[in-house]
Amino acid sequence: ANKLIEIRNLRTYFHTKNAVIRAVDGVDLDVDEGQIVCIVGESGSGKSITSLSIMQLLAKPAGRIVDGEVWFEGKDLTKLAEKEMTEIRGNRISMIFQEPMTALNPVMKVGEQITEVLLRHRSVSTAEANIKAVEMLRFVGVPRAEHIVKEYPHQLSGGMRQRVMIAMAMVCEPRLLIADEPTTALDVTIQIQVLELMKKMRDELNTSIILITHDLGVVAEMADHVVVMYAGQVVESVHADTIFDTPLHPYTQALLASIPSLDDEKDVLYSIPGTVPSAAAFPP
Ligand code: ADP
Repeated sequence: ANKLIEIRNLRTYFHTKNAVIRAVDGVDLDVDEGQIVCIVGESGSGKSITSLSIMQLLAKPAGRIVDGEVWFEGKDLTKLAEKEMTEIRGNRISMIFQEPMTALNPVMKVGEQITEVLLRHRSVSTAEANIKAVEMLRFVGVPRAEHIVKEYPHQLSGGMRQRVMIAMAMVCEPRLLIADEPTTALDVTIQIQVLELMKKMRDELNTSIILITHDLGVVAEMADHVVVMYAGQVVESVHADTIFDTPLHPYTQALLASIPSLDDEKDVLYSIPGTVPSAAAFPP
């Protein structure tokens, strides 16, 4: 398979009064086209800052607190001019969050929000953009899409808002979707639907997905490749099957040992509750 993105030596340090926190400390991460890579690790291990750092590298170089190389479709994103970055952000690479209201504008109809993204990146007419917005809402499983476009985010349920945000992120058919705990705040049935939707994006649109999760049930169900983070570093990066059969790093072994039901109950993986053990026992 072709590589879509290659991240090398990603570093993000926070300088506090007394210390330097190495939130992301030399992370390498590769994603192939049409591959779902799960980043797993306990709270504070650097998962979110990794994803935000990738997006930071797509923002203005001035004020960057991020360092590293990000090769995407053959270009080092860190070396691009601002205009080219703007072109990639939201178009070739987009991001979805745990809380959809972070991405949605509360005082704008959802249809307008989706068409706005499209009009920013594509030379299409407003009429064409409106049609595409409804199509995309249907693709992400929003019923009565032609009515939903006229509603405001607060008029929708949490699950529907999540779908609208995904439609917004997907309307330009990005090659890479970065999803940070996209289902954590959702009910289990809605969670399953959103995860199934991501598989549909991979299978039908060949979208690559970086999926950040603390839930090993989600990993077992979704991942083609798994990256385990611990204290800002990658401790294991392997094929999804390998991680469950022959985990190498002691931290990964402990992480899996904490959920013995994983092997027996492949069908109910989504219901396995929060999972990741404390890192305190595993100094880097
Ligand atoms: P995760 O997503 O794995 O839960 P994060 O990527 O959010 O973890 O955070 C990684 C580390 O960076 C944590 O130890 C956190 O305390 C630290 N961190 C995150 N944001 C800041 C900040 N603004 N200032 C200082 N430290 C931060």
